[in-house]
Amino acid sequence: MFKKILIANRGEIALRIQRACREMGIKAVMVYSEADRDAKYVKLADEAVCIGPAPSGQSYLHMPAIISAAEVTDAEAIHPGYGFLSENADFAERVENSGFVFIGPTAASIRLMGDKVSAKQAMIRAGVPTVPGSEGALSDNPVEIKRVAKSIGYPVIIKAAGGGGGRGMRVVHTEAALIHAVQTTKAEAGSAFGNPAVYMEKYLQNPRHVEIQIIADTHKNAVHLGERDCSMQRRHQKVIEESPAPGIPRRLIEKIGERCAAACKKIGYRGAGTFEFLFENGEFYFIEMNTRVQVEHPVTEWVTGIDIVKTQIEVAAGGKLPFNQKDVALRGHAIECRINAEDPFNFMPSPGKITGWHTAGGPGVRVDSHAYHNYTVPSHYDSMIGKLIVYGDTREQALARMRTALSEMVVEGIKTNIPLHRELMVDASFISGGTNIHYLEKWLEQHPR
Ligand code: ADP
Repeated sequence: MFKKILIANRGEIALRIQRACREMGIKAVMVYSEADRDAKYVKLADEAVCIGPAPSGQSYLHMPAIISAAEVTDAEAIHPGYGFLSENADFAERVENSGFVFIGPTAASIRLMGDKVSAKQAMIRAGVPTVPGSEGALSDNPVEIKRVAKSIGYPVIIKAAGGGGGRGMRVVHTEAALIHAVQTTKAEAGSAFGNPAVYMEKYLQNPRHVEIQIIADTHKNAVHLGERDCSMQRRHQKVIEESPAPGIPRRLIEKIGERCAAACKKIGYRGAGTFEFLFENGEFYFIEMNTRVQVEHPVTEWVTGIDIVKTQIEVAAGGKLPFNQKDVALRGHAIECRINAEDPFNFMPSPGKITGWHTAGGPGVRVDSHAYHNYTVPSHYDSMIGKLIVYGDTREQALARMRTALSEMVVEGIKTNIPLHRELMVDASFISGGTNIHYLEKWLEQHPR
């Protein structure tokens, strides 16, 4: 096992990984930007290295600074967390070429799955069902583009091959709007992701977002850890996640989960990963794979009893998965609310000093957050300041616990989306379960402030 790991991230996930290291008796080196000097996990760190000024391009995305920090502290491995460099194949390669272990898949796997076009093609080859769409990237030929759209059937969605974070997508309802939409998405993709390639998919009208967590070791074992329902989204960004997905028969989950585990074996995948699907009329359609730990991993940890971050570290150190598929069973129900520093109804970011901070507690409540009383939320990064996760024997109990936990949460000095979560937890349709990916946006339209 490693003696020392460098954590190349910030915020709640930096703290989450640090906690896993502590439990495993591994020293954790934290890197931080000037804006994160006072962060809790920096104060708690065995060692901490400032890697640059606040803008992430000069700190959390600056590969040479991170690799030198690993060199000067004698770390053996680098955990990239999520976001930042976690899905950057060049970074994974540089980490390994500098003699460190990258806690994640190989650069080749990241490259294959990071390009959504090649990922989809790999999944088709591995027998995983995908959303009907163009075969590969779209050409520049308008006649050809129109032909592809016609054969798929409107509405279609144009998506950037290199897209992520809910950006680089455009829905097209008519042929008249098609060519302009393709050109604009291409131009945006080129400047935002450095890759102008776009592809086309059937735009599913009422799907749910259901994803499968997998974990694989370097001894040809790959296991799926069931599903998460992440349909409560705004602007293609997840707001609430839960496991299991309400109302989906276990045999369907088992079937698709086994396909995902088999696909991992086929592509020689190692580490944790997520296969994201749209689920409509009883069918799963693959949309993309995330080759890293996800924000919503705690709901899976709770229903499976498996610590995903610790397992990531174990398999990165060359260990065998300590469980097999038969050992994995989902028990009870877990729900996560992402707590963002933003106006709950117009979503304007609300960075600044937290002048009052009281978290929830009690049975079945987990709060993953780096925030504290008098902590200042920097304006330079993502607005997520923590996650509130609850567990119950049943979904009803989990919902009741979430309502109680949200009523206990007090965050003063900045705005948060806690008031929105409180309203959603008493919404009749959400309580019934199985709402689709458009539900939250429609709900927001119907509840203007
Ligand atoms: P990103 O990498 O930016 O997260 P995804 O491909 O995972 O992009 O898609 C994000 C979200 O966009 C999905 O959860 C879904 O809400 C919506 N979406 C993507 N593709 C489609 C599609 N073919 N039909 C309908 N909605 C889609």
